[in-house]
Amino acid sequence: MTATPDDYKRLYARFTAPVSRFDCGRKCAPHNGGSPVCCSADHAVPIVDKAEYQLLKSRTDLWRDYVPNDAAGRKIVAELHETCVAVECKGVQFCERDNRSMSCRAFPFFPYFTREKQFVGLGYYWDFEDRCWIISNLQVVDVPFIREFCEAYEALFAVDEDERQGMIDHSASMRRVFTRRNQLIPLLGKEGGFFAVEPKTHVVRPARLEEFMRHGPYKDEPPAPAAGEPPAAAAD
Ligand code: SF4
Ligand code: SF4
Repeated sequence: MTATPDDYKRLYARFTAPVSRFDCGRKCAPHNGGSPVCCSADHAVPIVDKAEYQLLKSRTDLWRDYVPNDAAGRKIVAELHETCVAVECKGVQFCERDNRSMSCRAFPFFPYFTREKQFVGLGYYWDFEDRCWIISNLQVVDVPFIREFCEAYEALFAVDEDERQGMIDHSASMRRVFTRRNQLIPLLGKEGGFFAVEPKTHVVRPARLEEFMRHGPYKDEPPAPAAGEPPAAAAD
């Protein structure tokens, strides 16, 4: 059972909330050559399901096949699952909000599954820890985003077992990496709140934001105000 273009159309309609009230592209771009990290194929190559790509191509000319220009890019293409395609858009100045891929809408998060294959919250793509500002400021993620993220992925998993299995496998990879590092895996709960996966036992427990590491150039910046806090002058 796999998702169809119509399934993706429905998913797109129910997953529109921004990750945060902050324009986070303005936070990460200055540290990444002037482009938001997740909108530049030099940093992040969106991977889409073939049915999703079919839908996108029927709606817009924003997207094209990704053509790798280095060894890292060739590795991404070589390791693609047979149901997926690596793509790139025309660039952030041409972004069409309604025609963003699922991976654009969800970035930097993926659905985290426990060893028991329970979807318990939002994990992040750890390869981007040093570049994505959101990963160092998880408190800014808005509850409507979390709710829409979970509803959209639950709906996708209901029609596409490969997608569910892909996320189960990705969660297991994250556990292996963080166990080697002896670090907690930070999670956002499906109903909001912070959780952590213990590196040795993989037990999921409630956590405090202060337990989570901050990374790269964001380590030494003051943390941004949390979602729901008065924005003061910070929500730029
Ligand atoms: S999600 Fe992360 S990488 Fe993408 S624009 Fe926001 S801060 Fe940058
Ligand atoms: S479609 Fe928009 S959000 Fe997605 S990668 Fe392109 S510029 Fe970024």
